[in-house]
Amino acid sequence: MTALLWFRRDLRLTDNPALNAALTQGRLIPVYIHDEASHSPWPAGGAARWWLHHSLRALDGALRARGSRLIVRTGESLAVLEALLAETGAESVHWNRCYEPAAIARDTRIKQALQARGLAVHSQRAALWREPWELKTGAGEPYRVFTPFWRALSARLPELNVQPAPARLPPVPETLASETLDALRLLPRLNWADGFAAHWQPGEEGALRRLESFVDSRLPGYKTRRDFPAQPGVSGLSPHLHFGELSPQQIRAAVQRVAGAAPGADAEHFLRELGWREFAHHLLYHFPHTPEAPLYEKFAAFPWRAAADYAAQLRAWQQGLTGIPIVDAGMRELWHSGWMHNRVRMIVASFLTKNLLIPWQEGARWFWDTLLDADLANNTLGWQWSAGCGADAAPYFRIFNPLLQSQKFDAQGVYLRRWLPELAQLPDALIHAPWTASPAQLAAAKLRLDQDYPLPIVDLAASRARALAAYEPIKAAR
Ligand code: FAD
Repeated sequence: MTALLWFRRDLRLTDNPALNAALTQGRLIPVYIHDEASHSPWPAGGAARWWLHHSLRALDGALRARGSRLIVRTGESLAVLEALLAETGAESVHWNRCYEPAAIARDTRIKQALQARGLAVHSQRAALWREPWELKTGAGEPYRVFTPFWRALSARLPELNVQPAPARLPPVPETLASETLDALRLLPRLNWADGFAAHWQPGEEGALRRLESFVDSRLPGYKTRRDFPAQPGVSGLSPHLHFGELSPQQIRAAVQRVAGAAPGADAEHFLRELGWREFAHHLLYHFPHTPEAPLYEKFAAFPWRAAADYAAQLRAWQQGLTGIPIVDAGMRELWHSGWMHNRVRMIVASFLTKNLLIPWQEGARWFWDTLLDADLANNTLGWQWSAGCGADAAPYFRIFNPLLQSQKFDAQGVYLRRWLPELAQLPDALIHAPWTASPAQLAAAKLRLDQDYPLPIVDLAASRARALAAYEPIKAAR
């Protein structure tokens, strides 16, 4: 018997339930379908497409090393699957589940259509510890607050049973045609992504290497170091997780290997962050409107500024030219490396939504296009949390002060100097707020404000007061 194995966001051979299920059929055809329309209105952004290209290449290499290969086709998913079923005589289709609203609609439709033709369709859980529909509050509702969600999830973590990658795979018939990866045109035409390869190794091998190096050398101290963007304190696993190059179960197993069965504070905190990822998927599943609209309806009336009014400031934010160094450093890290530290994501998002009163959806769209780890569930949660309109909404009055954040989490300006070389010669006490330097201090640092580096595009205190006033009517609404 022959089975089609449809790879989507599970680009790995280790701990891949759909792969293991398909293998029991005998012959196996690994397939990737390039069907951008099926992700509408959230087709992969530019940075994620770069990653996808390299990850698919790595997957094909890993399959070939085991005697198989990846069949790549472009087109509407159901039509491509039907063509492949006819060409190969396969009788079953296997995949691991995706949780974005468009993917759920697509998969449901395909499952029904294939089953109606008497074909077997098998879907598995591979990206999460628990399915979003498995966890409910005592009242039978989806969770909207993280702490009780995490309590429920951590009490029901699945047994650890990581399946190794198969040593050999059945060959794919030589006559079965595949498109080349280059034909998918996933790589950007701009040379913007050229720097990404210095920071990242897409694919399962890169994911495993990063996981091992993190648990061996950076997990100790994670809880305290994770907030300091200049330090290598976090795992950097987010793009690997997004593309399913490793499973959350593999991460738990690796943590357990070094931390033992009773993890300490660092391991616990790290696993809790993965709990946020599960929570984000839980929310997206139960509240599929949230990528576009606030979780809580009353925030829909929030008085954001008009697009014509904020266009120039939005551009300054995107380009890392706001004149607030910690914001600009974050936005330049994003542009050059395709990633941004979580602490800085929170700072730049708060600055955009609160100091500039620009709708969070604008920020989410920019992140979507520029983050290698752009993930509909995590990005939506992050932006709604930062704007104060989502689950665990920060109280409206909690507006990050980017200056204090910068002084606290990058006291010596190491992160600022890394991404803003024009400020490098300012002393630590001034680098967080160059506009407070005297002309003599600026001259000593060889910095011409407004020429080499902008003056702040907004007054921090006045814009904070404006945001607080804007939140007043929302606060009163029920
Ligand atoms: P680690 O600290 O090593 O954490 C390990 C893993 O836990 C991460 O890889 C991630 O999968 C998960 N995780 C950690 N923090 C969070 C969180 N707050 N929410 C959900 N999952 C989390 N993460 C994305 O993966 N994709 C996004 O598009 C994304 N957009 C964001 C937008 C905003 C405005 C904010 C504030 C956060 C966003 N995050 C997003 C969450 C978080 O910033 C990243 O997951 C994290 O910085 C990735 O780095 P890491 O892998 O080193 O994290």
